[in-house]
Amino acid sequence: MVVVMQEGATEKQIQAVIDKLMKIGFDVHRSTGVVQTVLGGVGAKADFDTREVELLDGVQEVHRIIAPYKLASRHFRPEGSIIHVGKGVEVGGKQVVMMAGPCSVESREQIETIAAIVAQQGVRIMRGGAFKPRTSPYTFQGLGPKGLELMREAADRHNLLIVSEVMDHTQIPLMLEYVDILQVGTRNMQNFNLLRELGKTNKPVLLKRGISATIEEWLLSAEYIMSGGNYNVILCERGIRTFENATRNTLDVSAIPVIHKLSHLPVIADPSQATGRRDQVLPMARAAVAAGADGLLLEVHHDPENALSDGPQQLYPEQFITLMSELRMIAPAVGRTF
Ligand code: PEP
Ligand code: MN
Repeated sequence: MVVVMQEGATEKQIQAVIDKLMKIGFDVHRSTGVVQTVLGGVGAKADFDTREVELLDGVQEVHRIIAPYKLASRHFRPEGSIIHVGKGVEVGGKQVVMMAGPCSVESREQIETIAAIVAQQGVRIMRGGAFKPRTSPYTFQGLGPKGLELMREAADRHNLLIVSEVMDHTQIPLMLEYVDILQVGTRNMQNFNLLRELGKTNKPVLLKRGISATIEEWLLSAEYIMSGGNYNVILCERGIRTFENATRNTLDVSAIPVIHKLSHLPVIADPSQATGRRDQVLPMARAAVAAGADGLLLEVHHDPENALSDGPQQLYPEQFITLMSELRMIAPAVGRTF
């Protein structure tokens, strides 16, 4: 931690700050400039609250130099993490990994049709919600356990892996029987009970960024899962809430390089939830891969006009096929395979 004292801070004030830092557990290094004194605190645990020092008399500003997360930090594994999902599919390696499918599982026929479309394009992981976190309680809430069953059947027929959302910790045992990646939705990013329970499993977890979460808060949520022993975390930028209302959310493409710098965990992007409109999904998908995303989570539907959720943002099969051929060109241009 670095503490910059105000111009004219008294010796008594400086000493009070030094005493406080030492009490927290820091070794204090003092640098007395012509105008201001700067105190460097080295060696304490990461769990202190900077406000305790900020509020002391004579303090101008306080900067944390060690991130409050450890296991999720890039320092923990400078070489980066590769998450093994199964069937030889890895997220975080050289390959950009596609996870595509409908917003929700709706029927046997629907999931079978879409599984065939995505598998035909070389996709290895199918998405689809069985438990749906809908903003309104009066809209389709998902098929629940039946949805998982239908999805698994279709996935197995096409040799696909499955990513699906777990909304509550009581659903974990059931989900573990059916899915290969447990998705934590944006609304649950800070459901700490759920995160802790997921930490006790060893299944890969796709942790979406909370709609108003900072990158630090997002990484602290990853830390909750990892501190339980499950290091198989994949981050997913899915758009955040800003003042802009032309898009459903704002896809924070810049979060991708920031995560790669701060953390060893892979990060993928979900341009479907981010933009909410299929015409905007395509350019943002291209942008995310160009920015270094380790994969994409995409909504595709053979009949989006009649979809039971998120119709307007689900790609038509032809659009999806076009996007896949574009990504086959973009990925190698940025040093990735596809
Ligand atoms: C989804 O992927 O269908 C979904 C509901 O995602 P999010 O939690 O990002 O809104
Ligand atoms: Mn959706």
